[in-house]
Amino acid sequence: MDVTLFNTLGRKKEPLRPLAPGPVRLYTCGPTVYNYLHVGNYRTYVFEDVLKRTLKFAGFPVRHAMNITDVGHLTSQADEGEDKMEVGAAREGKTAWEIARFYTDAFLDDCRKLHILPPDVLCRATDHIAEQIALVKRLEERGFVYRTSDGLYYDTSKFPAYGRLMGEQNLEGLKAGARVEMNREKRNPTDFALWKFSPPGVVRQMQWDSPWGRGFPGWHIECSAMAMRYLGESFDIHCGGVDHIPIHHSNEIAQSEGATGKPFVKFWLHGEFLLMNNAKMAKSEGGFVTVKHLQDRGFDPLDYRYHCLTAHYRKQLDFTWETLEAAKAARRRLKNAAESLEGPDKPACAEHVQALREALEDDLNVPQALGVVHEALKADVPPGSKRALLKLAENLFAVGLFERETAALPADVQALLDRRAQARRSKDFQLSDSLRRDLAEKGWLVEDTKDVQKVRRL
Ligand code: AMP
Ligand code: ZN
Repeated sequence: MDVTLFNTLGRKKEPLRPLAPGPVRLYTCGPTVYNYLHVGNYRTYVFEDVLKRTLKFAGFPVRHAMNITDVGHLTSQADEGEDKMEVGAAREGKTAWEIARFYTDAFLDDCRKLHILPPDVLCRATDHIAEQIALVKRLEERGFVYRTSDGLYYDTSKFPAYGRLMGEQNLEGLKAGARVEMNREKRNPTDFALWKFSPPGVVRQMQWDSPWGRGFPGWHIECSAMAMRYLGESFDIHCGGVDHIPIHHSNEIAQSEGATGKPFVKFWLHGEFLLMNNAKMAKSEGGFVTVKHLQDRGFDPLDYRYHCLTAHYRKQLDFTWETLEAAKAARRRLKNAAESLEGPDKPACAEHVQALREALEDDLNVPQALGVVHEALKADVPPGSKRALLKLAENLFAVGLFERETAALPADVQALLDRRAQARRSKDFQLSDSLRRDLAEKGWLVEDTKDVQKVRRL
């Protein structure tokens, strides 16, 4: 059977046929590391992870590259405003480099907790300045570039296919919107920065010399330069969230195809948003939920991973603590089954495997595939076969079905418990009692045995 995927370019499902022998080449846009990611971001990374696992299951090895945006992503889509990295640095009184390192590590840590497989290549924008300059030079030689007082810009009128990814109607809307806040020196509303000059009199923390003057790369050029470096000038699949369709990915296509004259990417796949209170969850909106928040409320990050699997990646998904509870309960049902199935190993029932495969190979219909697994547990087949199916499901969905429950206690609760253990060791019973009251106020009951304190929710 074919793996069919919905291609944003052309808006229809198409069978996957790798462009060249060898692995399917996949590029996914990584995070801008100026703050913690929120669980909305991770919805996109979970979708991409399940895609990778599904491709491997379907017999396509994968070579995956992902970037880390650690420079050049400005606060305004119109190539104005401050660099988000410098905003993060000012907020925390650290250097932009420290901010980048700290939040990259935090991102990788969350990915581990969410069972998101690491890419084969993880590439930082700041490690690839030379590649970005070389690509801008190529575009310059081919007549796509003009200079303004604040940088080099891509002339989108020179690329007739500009905006193909978003469709004619959306392109018109984008132009109208961009015109409102258009920098007067831009030739067309959709033109975008390839290289920005460091503002006169300002010493940026992140800046490099280039043939055009000291400055830093525009945000979009990093993905074109690094994707081509690690995956070639034309490759199979490029993913991101739907917000990237109109600007970031449209610009990536214009830059890459402008420079090479070849099609950049065969399949563009976009994950829909995670919503909270019917609005997109966004870093810039404040009030966003992180993986740490989930853990502080006593959830395992894998409960959230399961939550992501309950909707098709092309449908919006609403996040509430109640929907997360429901996901946790459904995951628990599968885990309980995995723990209680006894009896000799047997191969999984072919019919169930087939149903699972068909659901996933049809544009990654994960909710249907999960339904197959839940139904299979009720079927009249030997426990060993059910266990084999759950192992297969675990390879695809990675929700920790065969792991011991590791949900950590909320950090503040753990800290109180640690202090209380210390108080008990030093026989400070007054402090120990007061910490018990603090824990009760947070909703946790402590029971003391001779050696350890046990804790449970009140
Ligand atoms: P950023 O760090 O802003 O570049 O975002 C990292 C990834 O998360 C991108 O692929 C975005 O498209 C995606 N993303 C941002 N917000 C959401 C959301 N609310 N739901 C799903 N994906 C999102
Ligand atoms: Zn990108």
